[in-house]
Amino acid sequence: MSTASQDKRVAAFREYVKKMVSYGQALAILNWDLRTKAPRKGVEARSELLGVLSGEHFKLSTSDQMAEYLQALQEPDTFAALDPITQKTVLECKKEYERSKKIPPDRFQAFVVLAAQAGSVWEEAKAHNDFASYRPYLEKIVQFQLEFIEYWGYKDNKYDTLLDMYEPGMTVAQLDPMFATIRDKSVNLLDRIMASPHKRDTSFLTQNYDVAAQEAFSRYVIERVGYDFKAGRMDVSVHPFCTTFAPTDVRITTRFNPNDFQTALFGCIHETGHAIYEQNISMDLFGTPLCDGTSMGIHESQSRFWENMVGRSLPFWNHFYTDVVKAFPTQLEGISIDQFYYGINEVTPSLIRIEADELTYNLHIMIRYEIEKALIDQKIEVGDLPRIWNEKMKEYLGIVPDTDANGVLQDVHWSDGSFGYFPTYSLGNVYAAQIANVLKKELSDYEALISAGEFTPIREWLKARIYQYGKMKSPNELLHDITGELGNASYLVDYLEKKFSAIYHL
Ligand code: ZN
Repeated sequence: MSTASQDKRVAAFREYVKKMVSYGQALAILNWDLRTKAPRKGVEARSELLGVLSGEHFKLSTSDQMAEYLQALQEPDTFAALDPITQKTVLECKKEYERSKKIPPDRFQAFVVLAAQAGSVWEEAKAHNDFASYRPYLEKIVQFQLEFIEYWGYKDNKYDTLLDMYEPGMTVAQLDPMFATIRDKSVNLLDRIMASPHKRDTSFLTQNYDVAAQEAFSRYVIERVGYDFKAGRMDVSVHPFCTTFAPTDVRITTRFNPNDFQTALFGCIHETGHAIYEQNISMDLFGTPLCDGTSMGIHESQSRFWENMVGRSLPFWNHFYTDVVKAFPTQLEGISIDQFYYGINEVTPSLIRIEADELTYNLHIMIRYEIEKALIDQKIEVGDLPRIWNEKMKEYLGIVPDTDANGVLQDVHWSDGSFGYFPTYSLGNVYAAQIANVLKKELSDYEALISAGEFTPIREWLKARIYQYGKMKSPNELLHDITGELGNASYLVDYLEKKFSAIYHL
């Protein structure tokens, strides 16, 4: 093909992709509005609109036109001549195209219907502590996963195919040793913490904290950390989230608990971690599917780095302690910074994942990972889940749920077939510690910077190494370029050991 007609084809492809991405942005805005602003009566009409536009988006990504572009642009000489952004865009579109096309439309449709039913059945089952009514739905959901894996194909392990959706390139072979390390070291550390006589009063954190004051303080902190309010906004929603329409418009939400100091503030810092990533992706990638975080795990590494490794660190509060006492003088009267630091890092085994502390959180993930893997390997059955769940809770966390509602039924995720998603939370912690290890070596005054409230050098470092690339680098590539190795859990367990040994005088 002549260069001129090749250029024309590339331009047409990029235009086509931009249209697809625009549908995605419109959907994101409508979703954001639905979850933050829309009146109750408008929900049904909005859901219908979302359905229509998702359908259009799906058609564009799986059309004959897309197939034609992909075929032509993947021809080796043609592909080699493409610029790097177009190359990666072709590969991303190909991945999405194949994932969607390999499933027969009637089977996909049947799954969508089932997942919608399973969602409402789960809600009822959780409310009435009734696993038996949910069981047949979950069984069918798992069957669908197995069927889809056959369409998509797999190499060593069926579960790898599911992992790859959330963490491209991640495998059971890589995860198993990492998670075994986390599980064993965390269980051991937790035992020692529970036996430690060094316990302090933390009730000051759950007094009445005025919501308006919480909001003002949260906004102050996240702006200082580096959330750009000129390229975003913060609203309230039931479940906090971060959503991106463009790097110049990245929005976060939070929720307020008038009787808990930590919910809103640390939730805000968490979402800010996600948002700073998205606000710093190169604008060159805008209008392509690459203008996004590279994986769930890398994304979560940034939210958890800012929330836990920075936001729950002593240097951070060395800087903000005067401010927080000024914001809440009665609640924090007579509370030393040490007591405050202990309070925000207190470790308590608990039943509910989303309320777990920094250490025990990973153990909640281990339980879900082990169960998912065994279900997909068909080594256990859905009917066994309540028993297995409780056994693992006892083994890892030392507590047993009083009800299935507080146990196996607590998360919605399996209802829509999100298998392979939970591990990305712990991977986020693994990556965060691994990346922070390099960051601390290269920015030798890291702690002094945080104590001084100077977050710009840290943000700039992360932008140069991670944020700007969006999806241009795969998670493994990104991690290897920064740390010289693939995922390695030893940095996380060392970090946890050091931090909690100091707090609990172990
Ligand atoms: Zn997150």
